[in-house]
Amino acid sequence: MKKISVLLIGLILFSCGKNSLNETEALESFSEKDIEKHVKILASDDFMGRNPFTEGETKTINYLKDEFTKLGLNSFFQEVPLIQVTGEPSDKLIIKKGNTNLTLALNNDFVIFSRVQKEIVGIDGSELVFAGYGIVAPEYNWNDYKDIDVKGKTVVVLVNDPGIITGNKDFFKGNTMTYYGRWTYKYEEAARQGAKDCIIIHDDKGAGYNFSVVRNGATFSKLYLQSENGYKERCEIEGWITTEAAKKLVSFCGFDSKIIEKAATLDHKSTSLGATATTFIKQSFVSKTSNNVFGYLEGTDKKDELIVISAHWDCFGIGPKVNGDSIYNGAIDNGTSLAWMLETAEAFTKLKKKQSRSILFFAPTAEEAGLLGSSYYTENPIYPLAKTIAVINNDLMFPYGKTKDVMVTGYGQSDLDDLLEIEAKKQDRYLLPDPNSHTGMFFRSDHFSFAKEGVPALFARSYHDHYEKGKEWMRAKEKEYLSDKYHKTTDEFEEDWDLSGVVLDSQLLFNLTYNLSNSNTYPKWKESSEFKNVKR
Ligand SMILES: [Zn+2]
Repeated sequence: MKKISVLLIGLILFSCGKNSLNETEALESFSEKDIEKHVKILASDDFMGRNPFTEGETKTINYLKDEFTKLGLNSFFQEVPLIQVTGEPSDKLIIKKGNTNLTLALNNDFVIFSRVQKEIVGIDGSELVFAGYGIVAPEYNWNDYKDIDVKGKTVVVLVNDPGIITGNKDFFKGNTMTYYGRWTYKYEEAARQGAKDCIIIHDDKGAGYNFSVVRNGATFSKLYLQSENGYKERCEIEGWITTEAAKKLVSFCGFDSKIIEKAATLDHKSTSLGATATTFIKQSFVSKTSNNVFGYLEGTDKKDELIVISAHWDCFGIGPKVNGDSIYNGAIDNGTSLAWMLETAEAFTKLKKKQSRSILFFAPTAEEAGLLGSSYYTENPIYPLAKTIAVINNDLMFPYGKTKDVMVTGYGQSDLDDLLEIEAKKQDRYLLPDPNSHTGMFFRSDHFSFAKEGVPALFARSYHDHYEKGKEWMRAKEKEYLSDKYHKTTDEFEEDWDLSGVVLDSQLLFNLTYNLSNSNTYPKWKESSEFKNVKR
């Protein structure tokens, strides 16, 4: 009760008054014209699809730095050391039980890769263990590794968490994916348990995409942050197997394939499959360096405290020609968000009385390769994370006009939702939790690198309730974007864009950032958040 009233008082103080005079000029500086100008440049063919390590990178990071500098911000780069791994996997995964073999086929049944920096890596006849969801979550009384020793063994685990599978809303977070359901967690936990390898059973529903997406992802070379010890602490082989192949495998080992479906129930027990697995990958490595870009705007009274505004700058560069075009311009992903960041920086410079806390504008590299630039930053922070009050990130801002709703990805994670709600109400708008929260979008853009280290994070934008055209129209526009343009060469600037919604969202997030930068509020994770106990 006490805790609630303290938060309420904080919210009341925070919400006092409408926009201040000091804020007005800043708010008026957001313009569709400026946003259009930035997107047109950043998404032009001249920027070559903003691929890390190319001339497109040089042009992009210099453009951002020059814009920040013109505004009077302290702008600089942070070098991000990366390693590109190209793997040639064996085309078979051989399962051996007694004198019989089961052979699974690369790409049809499974894919494998490794971050361990050795020229030959593999599963070397190690014992297979089915470890359910591969989750250790004391707060939900769940431990798939409780009664089994997996040291030196190959674990096979399910993606998702048991809440999503059972649909029980009181179990984990029900239909909302917790971090325990995310595939990155599965590999991390298996390594913490001492497993030598970890293979995840794919599931269309939880991933939000089918196995062909996993397969395509595995055929390209992979980028990782450079690691001093060559990722010795990680599982040697990480991989995916289809649900059908996993069922075949379990039956071959003499088990009822229903143990897979039953893994979400409380009487599930992880078990050795009494069989071994063998496969290998030949690997080669190239070291590369890319750059994070920053614009730092120092505060006044509380200048050692920081709010981060982030939007990744990278896209996919130039690929094979599709319908005569080979450039992945990334106008919406993530040109619009970069324009939002630059416009927000400009707005802050219009304040007559400077904000109290400092603001760091942060354009990470290599988001598309797995949040690499932002992970590097949070592992090597330039400003202490303990003094980083919040991060506000954007990834895709739709140029289709204004909506009444503001969709919050990861709704319910932190107090930032409550602060956003206050600002949304001032705009006569309302908040909406992500209707697709089972896909774990909260773990899939740069704010997550901060969340993982305990910094409260917000990822929110316009959604479907379009002022003039209604929900159906907007839903169709989003669907069209996701199927025809997202991560394709057709994600380009278009003359009929309506950027008024991007301006409205920019003003919304500016109000939030401005008020937070002048307040004594320290946003916290909510009780139900899986990040509430992270020390920073
Ligand atoms: Zn993106």
